[in-house]
Amino acid sequence: MLTVIAGKEEPVTKPEYASDRKLAGRCLCGAVQYEVADEFAYAANCHCSNCRRTTGSAFKPFAGIGREKLHLTKGDDKLMIFGDESGNDTHCKLCGSLLYSLVRDGTFVHVAMGTLVDDPSIRPAQHIFVGSKAPWFTITDDLPQYQEHVIAGPVSA
Ligand SMILES: [Zn+2]
Ligand SMILES: [Zn+2]
Repeated sequence: MLTVIAGKEEPVTKPEYASDRKLAGRCLCGAVQYEVADEFAYAANCHCSNCRRTTGSAFKPFAGIGREKLHLTKGDDKLMIFGDESGNDTHCKLCGSLLYSLVRDGTFVHVAMGTLVDDPSIRPAQHIFVGSKAPWFTITDDLPQYQEHVIAGPVSA
């Protein structure tokens, strides 16, 4: 649930209830809204060309969690799904926002962190697919960088 007061988004959940804390998220127009447990397993900034194109940005900050921990609270008939049940990008079909991607044969979702209303406990911990990073973008933080997936090893210095 999202409460909008004079244009300001009020967080729905409060940190003091951290045990079963839920995070709200929504698309640009508000037609699609979701709730996800604040129990992300990992988070990263992905610089691959697919993430760049689907977001129109230099990279995509995303957080991964089991699919069953994310529920749509509004707009399940307003989705534009690019892909299928084994893997896809799920957008709002009205405003186009990328909300999350279904990955790992449909068992996990990668939430596009820019659509979260509430502040998650997790932070992106690394840059991945730096090997296909946009040349016009410079990484200026100290997070570890990986050529591809984390499992493939760090960028050699
Ligand atoms: Zn929308
Ligand atoms: Zn990517």
